[in-house]
Amino acid sequence: MTKPRTFACLSCGSRLHHELQVQHILSLKPIEFPLLCETCQAQWQHLDDTHLLCWGCSRYLHETDDIYEQPHRRDDLTYCFDCIRWLERYDARFIHHQSIYQYNEAFREWLYQYKFQADFRQGWLVSEALASSYQQQQAYQWLVLASSPASMQMRGFHATSLLLDMADIPHQSPFTYIGDNQKQSSKTRQARLQLKQAFAIDDMASLVDRPYLIFDDVYTTGATMLLAKQILFDALKARFPESEPVIESISLGRDTD
Ligand SMILES: [Zn+2]
Ligand SMILES: [Zn+2]
Repeated sequence: MTKPRTFACLSCGSRLHHELQVQHILSLKPIEFPLLCETCQAQWQHLDDTHLLCWGCSRYLHETDDIYEQPHRRDDLTYCFDCIRWLERYDARFIHHQSIYQYNEAFREWLYQYKFQADFRQGWLVSEALASSYQQQQAYQWLVLASSPASMQMRGFHATSLLLDMADIPHQSPFTYIGDNQKQSSKTRQARLQLKQAFAIDDMASLVDRPYLIFDDVYTTGATMLLAKQILFDALKARFPESEPVIESISLGRDTD
């Protein structure tokens, strides 16, 4: 999809000045006008791999007394404490997740505007980063999770599917939602960790024998993502008993609340 041209910063609303530069004309590429003012743009931070990141969930780790932020070593990989606990419950190959942006104030505000204010134009702000992740991971069939009927009704659009559409990333969803319709973000941390299976595989016929990558907007406790990986793994294993399913996951942000 082609990005719109906006004369107001999509985040703070201040006026944007689009000056056509000589290099725009000489480059012969389609002109990309900015969607954010310089101040707002500067607040978006990609996850920085000079930091120590949890292999399991992309959380920043460092030497500290806080058990949740300390690195824990397991089989030559570094995990956070939450992921160490997931390793007791899930196969180690499920405990790997990449994230694109730092979950900072700018990201939180973006998510609020996009998802809860249903301002879908905000989706354009992440489409370039998503498209470049897709460039590196085209070997995977990208998937999105099923939305609960309650959030579809509230928003009127499928939040993650629309983000991928805006970034021109082909994707599908073999999942159907069978959860309790309560918003993940309204549950306590404990309730989210004890989550019962929220998905079923709806469309077995759409599954093919290839690597899959599940995209979600935010990874919080990992509970939802791991349930989805488990059910997809079981379905792939049943359909292609000779193959070892490969299922990865990626999100825009990694929330550590
Ligand atoms: Zn701005
Ligand atoms: Zn982790």
